[in-house]
Amino acid sequence: MAVWDDLVGQERVREQLAAAARDADALVTSHAAGEAPPDASKMTHAWLFTGPPGSGRATAARAFAAALQCVSPDRALGGEPGCGFCDGCHTSLVGTHADVEVVRTDLLSIGVKETRDLVRRAQLSPAGGRWQVIVLEDADRLTEGAGNVLLKAVEEPAPRTVWLLCAPSLEDVLPTIRSRCRHLTLRTPSVDAVADVLVRRDGIDPQAAAAAARATQGHIDHARRLATDERARARRATVLKVPLRVDDVGGCLKAAQELIDAAGEDAKQVAEEIDVKETEELKAALGAAQGGRMPRGTAGAMKELEERQKRRKTRTQRDSLDLALSDLTGFYRDVLALQLNARTQIANEDVRDSLDRIAHGSTPERTLRRIEAVLACREALDKNVAPLLAVEAMTMALRAG
Ligand SMILES: [Zn+2]
Repeated sequence: MAVWDDLVGQERVREQLAAAARDADALVTSHAAGEAPPDASKMTHAWLFTGPPGSGRATAARAFAAALQCVSPDRALGGEPGCGFCDGCHTSLVGTHADVEVVRTDLLSIGVKETRDLVRRAQLSPAGGRWQVIVLEDADRLTEGAGNVLLKAVEEPAPRTVWLLCAPSLEDVLPTIRSRCRHLTLRTPSVDAVADVLVRRDGIDPQAAAAAARATQGHIDHARRLATDERARARRATVLKVPLRVDDVGGCLKAAQELIDAAGEDAKQVAEEIDVKETEELKAALGAAQGGRMPRGTAGAMKELEERQKRRKTRTQRDSLDLALSDLTGFYRDVLALQLNARTQIANEDVRDSLDRIAHGSTPERTLRRIEAVLACREALDKNVAPLLAVEAMTMALRAG
């Protein structure tokens, strides 16, 4: 299986990356042989992957990173780099290659300090003699200061350094940075393509895979979670009941509180899974005495960890709310399709009764306004409006009448 196999429904991007990996390989090979580099090259030092959530931006970047490190002997026989089997490909894909750094933050922003560390790392010559690859999965989370630090590195890269930045859209990245990157756009893969990969790669039963792919409208990670995680299914069921519960003000406020509580519950679960272990590890590293008493001068480090955990909790909560909002948007899109007799596939076939009820009880104009209310809530959250306030405003706007 080649490194590109997880890249679902992105034929054009895949071709471009494969061509660049081929040229990158030619550069490395000619250099090693003491020959002049090839004239034209599709390889470059900075790439920007954009596309809607779930389209596979990070997957594309990681596949490219692996192809750049491919050392398969087949390459000499005309084989493509990116075999998926050789040591270079394999270690890159599982995250242990010495020259591939994947930065995935669980925080809301990436600061100057973290970025400086990365830039320093990027200056190193690749230990394996090929490329030093830095994958920044959340380039949209760079603070402005961090962006400026990164800009310098992207402007004057070391000869064998490659930056792979991922962001939802071009607007999420500083103009000065994006103008120095080659830009690749990923699209939302088709429902069939997502169902296919769930069956092929994750061994999910075809019917369950098709239902999950449809319900999540081509978002691969969410589809997989929905098909395999009982909790995710319960969460979605709760969200899809919201439209039936917003008959009066009391119902609206209650539904809002429940959405917030569910997101908080998610964050708590993640915290329980990670925070305790992380704290224990740091305490041990700092030399805590028996009984947990900390040596002098370690309070700062402990405090820093606490801050970090708090920021991570906020992000988990936000991500969870975001998911709920996209489920709600999907619900009202289905309602609209029914009202307009559109011949599109219904995403939430499993709650058909609710869809029919709302569709018959309202008009397409009303449904459009409801979709707008959900989108407005997401925007408010992006602007850091207090979550409960934003969600209450939404449920009130969803109210019948
Ligand atoms: Zn390989």
